[in-house]
Amino acid sequence: MSKTQSLGWEHKKRSPIKRLFGPWAGFVVTFRTLFQKPVTEQYPFEKVPPKPRYHGRHQLNRHPDGLEKCVGCELCAWACPADAIFVEAADNTPEAQYSPGERYGRVYEINYLRCIFCGLCIEACPTRALTMTNDFELASQSRADMIYTKDQLLVAPPEGVPAAPHPMVPGTQDVDYYAGKVTGPVPEQLEWVAAHRPAGSGTGVQAQATRSVNA
Ligand code: SF4
Ligand code: SF4
Repeated sequence: MSKTQSLGWEHKKRSPIKRLFGPWAGFVVTFRTLFQKPVTEQYPFEKVPPKPRYHGRHQLNRHPDGLEKCVGCELCAWACPADAIFVEAADNTPEAQYSPGERYGRVYEINYLRCIFCGLCIEACPTRALTMTNDFELASQSRADMIYTKDQLLVAPPEGVPAAPHPMVPGTQDVDYYAGKVTGPVPEQLEWVAAHRPAGSGTGVQAQATRSVNA
């Protein structure tokens, strides 16, 4: 190959005008944005709400009568690509019924040092026990604090709804809960809670509850 033969990758020679103004072309963007409204967010003084489907901190949900939706099946833990979830199930008993059916999630932890907020765990959950909120403020100076436990993830029951444990709505099976037939606590459940937890700790029990099982 001769010295004068082109290899095809050399830069084309630019005109003197382009060589003069080329280095300044990048400043056009700077000058243009000088006169635009700034988009700086004054976080944490002004919090801009994220989009409704933003993947933030997880939440463990309850049925309308206060029983927990998590049945301790561990599907969320198996689906997690970051191995961020730890679940340990236990059996429900007549004295301590936490969820409809046989088992409930006795231990539930999410390690937010590992979580990548992909949402695969909530897709895997068969009972919609696990969902994600819009809460993104998860920073901490302690590694231990970044492991959220069940008491931090479990949503509080609404006013007037007793927290688990308490019996299922009489005459129902677990499938009735998933069919939406249970819409709130019934007097039998409130009486059980009043008898077994007289202090009403965490129950918010109110006597006016009415039977709320759809036939
Ligand atoms: S959002 Fe993704 S990474 Fe985080 S716990 Fe769920 S499956 Fe694991
Ligand atoms: S959150 Fe859902 S998937 Fe995970 S253990 Fe509970 S019921 Fe199973």
